[in-house]
Amino acid sequence: MASFTLHGIPVSRGIAIGRAHLLRPAARDVKHYLISEEKVEAEVVRLTDAIAAVNRELQAVRRDLPADAPSELAAFIDVHALILADPIVATEPLKIIRNRHYNAEWAWLTQIDELSAQFDEIEDAYLRERKNDIRQVGERVLKFLTGTASTFPTSSDPLEELPQMIVVAHDISPADMLQFRDRAFVGFVTDLGGQNSHTAIVARSLDIPAVVGMSTACSLICEDDWVIIDGDAGIVIVDPAPVVLEQYREVQSQLIRERKKLGKLKKTPAVTKDGTRIHLLANIELPEDCSPAVEAGAVGVGLFRSEFLFMGRAGGPHRLPSEDEQFESYRKAVVLMKGRPVTIRTLDVGADKPLDKDEETALNPALGLRAIRYCLAEPQMFLTQLRAILRASAYGPINLLIPMLAHAFEIDQTLLFIDQAKQQLRDAKKKFDPNIPVGAMIEIPAAALTLPLFIKRLNFLSIGTNDLIQYTLAIDRVDHEVAHLYNPLHPAVLYLLSTTIAAGAKAGIPVAVCGEVAGDTKLTRLLLGMGLREFSMHPAQLLSVKQEILNSDLDQIEPQVKKILKTFDSAAIADGVERLRAS
Ligand code: PEP
Ligand code: MG
Repeated sequence: MASFTLHGIPVSRGIAIGRAHLLRPAARDVKHYLISEEKVEAEVVRLTDAIAAVNRELQAVRRDLPADAPSELAAFIDVHALILADPIVATEPLKIIRNRHYNAEWAWLTQIDELSAQFDEIEDAYLRERKNDIRQVGERVLKFLTGTASTFPTSSDPLEELPQMIVVAHDISPADMLQFRDRAFVGFVTDLGGQNSHTAIVARSLDIPAVVGMSTACSLICEDDWVIIDGDAGIVIVDPAPVVLEQYREVQSQLIRERKKLGKLKKTPAVTKDGTRIHLLANIELPEDCSPAVEAGAVGVGLFRSEFLFMGRAGGPHRLPSEDEQFESYRKAVVLMKGRPVTIRTLDVGADKPLDKDEETALNPALGLRAIRYCLAEPQMFLTQLRAILRASAYGPINLLIPMLAHAFEIDQTLLFIDQAKQQLRDAKKKFDPNIPVGAMIEIPAAALTLPLFIKRLNFLSIGTNDLIQYTLAIDRVDHEVAHLYNPLHPAVLYLLSTTIAAGAKAGIPVAVCGEVAGDTKLTRLLLGMGLREFSMHPAQLLSVKQEILNSDLDQIEPQVKKILKTFDSAAIADGVERLRAS
């Protein structure tokens, strides 16, 4: 096949080279991981056992059919038993486990998908319909397998010699994306998605090259095709010529060398050339992310997206983590940060982060019942989370961050709930930090335009540029059709950013930026020149931002940024930012 190139939106940097693995919608709930050589036979047994168990189940159902059951029912069960006995169904997946080292669920589903696709090609409508039988048999076996799921491989499993794989999917939810951490994949390509969709953010936090918004990747890329992802340029090269592959391997090694060099900055304090101290903090999704954050030299967690503890949980939207479960997670983060502050954001679900995938979505989810609006509508759930966070504050410094505030009454209600949670803990004789700082995300333009309301009542601010840009420019951050209009350098965005930073400085309360712009080295000097002193980003971005800070001189930058902020001309702004970087 001839090589071809697809263009999309770059969301996570670096080069990935590997074989394509097409992730179909049905496959998203199934665990995907590679198993090491010595565990192959155990995995084969697991699948064989599951097939045998379903077989026994079918025989039992057949035997116990009531005498008056319609005859089609017996025939239907017989068809399923026949399918299950067919070597193409029953033995091919065993070969996939042995040859490709897929886990049992993945191997099974790969074969079921393959067979279903073959049935789609059949002209005879009756036979084509049999595809549903194959799917149903597939589901039954999967159900058995999930009950016996083996644990994920540890990093010590010798998997290096296996081929690297790249996920190609129409779309991946943020919770599903999170499942891929430490698994088999080295890159992601999706048809849908924007630069700052939560799926893109999670891909970035996994530090794996990714390109989204490709529109047709799923239909043009085939299983096992060789694929190169250029995460910086936002391109995907399918079936590259050997010379191209060679060039990219060279770039990849160069990037690895540069990264190693950056590693030397881990312990260097982030101070500008003129001696100004900058605080570099980490954005995390799960408590385990604290270790890479400390490793990268973060002086604290600037944003713990607590919703990832709530999303994608088995048992539907009402299976929320209990107070104790949450407390353990927050405490774990605090302990892992060893005395550095942890800013925990209360639940921000809704929009592109539904609690449950099957939940009915609102008409305009980004404008709907999201974040603090959701929490205020679910007081028991909110109080449970507040108590859990407060209890963890007895083990180390925690800041409480509230997302999506826009109205004065929302601030009042939130503070009342915090007081109530504190009282409940006092009554229960549980310890907490009574002076826990409470801050607001500034991510709705209305909030950025009414800052005195926030400064008067709260202890700190954190600017969520991902949403601030979305709501200021009316660009859905998830929609790839409008991704080209999502521009952090729009003068309206710069105005809201710079005035918020200035207002915080004037009032003497800390202001951080925790949106994706904080980790973008192209914007580091612009933010420094606006007066920003706290940047919160994925641990993987921290050292490059630090390098930029070490090379920056505020005395030079500030007058240039002042000029940039005076213009409304986008070309002049882009030019000014370019010159700022080169200065
Ligand atoms: C933001 O909006 O910038 C932010 C940090 O929050 P999230 O991306 O989770 O909406
Ligand atoms: Mg936000």
